[in-house]
Amino acid sequence: MNDRGITRRRILAFLTAGAMGIGGSLYGLSRAGVIRFLDEDAKDEDPVQLQRKPYPPEPGREISRLGFGGIRLPILNRNDSEMDYELGQKLVDYGVRHGMNYFDTGWVYHHGQGEVFFGKVLKKYPRESFMLADKMPTWLVHSLDDAKRFFKEQLKRCQVEYFDNYLLHSISKFDEFQNVYEKMGVLDYLKEEKARGRIRHLGFSFHSTVPTMEYLLEKHKWDFALIMLNCLEWDDENEHRQSGYRAGTLYRMLTAKNLPVFVMEPLSGGRVATLNSKAKKVLEAAELGRSLASWGMRFAASLPNVQTLLSGMNKLDQVVDNVRTLSTDFEQMTKQDHETYGRALAEYHKYPIIPCTMCRYCMPCPYGVLIPETFAWYNSFAGEGLLPADAGPNDSQALRRKFLVSYNNTIPPLARANHCINCRKCLMACPQWTFRIPVEMEKIERFVAHVQSQYDVKKSVKSTC
Ligand code: SF4
Ligand code: SF4
Repeated sequence: MNDRGITRRRILAFLTAGAMGIGGSLYGLSRAGVIRFLDEDAKDEDPVQLQRKPYPPEPGREISRLGFGGIRLPILNRNDSEMDYELGQKLVDYGVRHGMNYFDTGWVYHHGQGEVFFGKVLKKYPRESFMLADKMPTWLVHSLDDAKRFFKEQLKRCQVEYFDNYLLHSISKFDEFQNVYEKMGVLDYLKEEKARGRIRHLGFSFHSTVPTMEYLLEKHKWDFALIMLNCLEWDDENEHRQSGYRAGTLYRMLTAKNLPVFVMEPLSGGRVATLNSKAKKVLEAAELGRSLASWGMRFAASLPNVQTLLSGMNKLDQVVDNVRTLSTDFEQMTKQDHETYGRALAEYHKYPIIPCTMCRYCMPCPYGVLIPETFAWYNSFAGEGLLPADAGPNDSQALRRKFLVSYNNTIPPLARANHCINCRKCLMACPQWTFRIPVEMEKIERFVAHVQSQYDVKKSVKSTC
């Protein structure tokens, strides 16, 4: 059997097994195993290719439907800035071999190392063969000179002469947009850079409200936009939606202005790729073998004005699964698929969670709180409807114990919610305005203390009997 046959068969077998939850997922491979897998794939002379789509602002240019989001690159340990260059290079090479030509980074990603990473790993490819996007770190700009310094340093870090797409990063507060980009003159400066050729297309990444979008579109001229878009934030026919963010409305506003829509968080930081066990059952009953991530990617990619989906990929099975979903064999969502997906999402929305996307912009907390990890741990119970509840169906001593033991095992004592002193530093960086970190920390702290007290009471009653 030739290498191509082996590689394709292995990918399919791993993905099917992983999606079915019966083991054999590529997650199970050691780092050395992943590297061996990638080396073997490199021998494939006719690899599956990603679908590409013409990019209207640049006639003749086509962009792959999947872009490499640089927010969650492979790292060597918990320190976010120690990049795993060997694995990262091979993952990027895998993407390129399969037709990927769009890479997205930002000043703050991996504490500045994200830009350096792409500078190094893309060096081997001709500059015109890939598109690189970078962003002005809006919330760190205090003067026009700051903005100029950031931009020049970004070109240096990325080892390029120009950026294909350049974005105003994270428009989330209207006042901040006006202050930085209009009053300080940073937007005019970026337009000058565009005229100089160091920016080819100018856009913004957006986390804000419909009125802010209206203002941006009426007042200024843009080439494209990057918005958070996924099935959980979609506001059409979604009465269960928890977030106040209105992805569907924003998408239609941009489409009406003929602006290509790039998508961030198509899987909402992994939430769409896991949903909950009840939602998973609905989707598995409809189509065995398709991963939840694949359903989520198809939801966004089936929208006609979606240009490219960015996915922060640091695991092999994420890259492989995304490439397969968005390949030239891409299957548009049908009406029946939408109905099935709607039923699954209704199950998911029954159990509200804290809508953190794990972007880690809030980190590090000066008081040591592990913010995203704490939310992820809490959501793992809340999203399954397994929070211990007084006198409810979940009111059992066993569940309280499981909840408290899990907290102890997941979050180290000095990094827990009770160490939040409401300094509000994280609020400045968090792009999600539909919840407030210190408020949620306080709620979690109170809830854990309550469960603990109930557990202790029951324990002491039992021991005195
Ligand atoms: S508000 Fe709390 S969680 Fe946020 S940075 Fe301050 S101490 Fe950390
Ligand atoms: S709390 Fe906000 S900034 Fe921190 S990881 Fe979650 S979404 Fe990102």
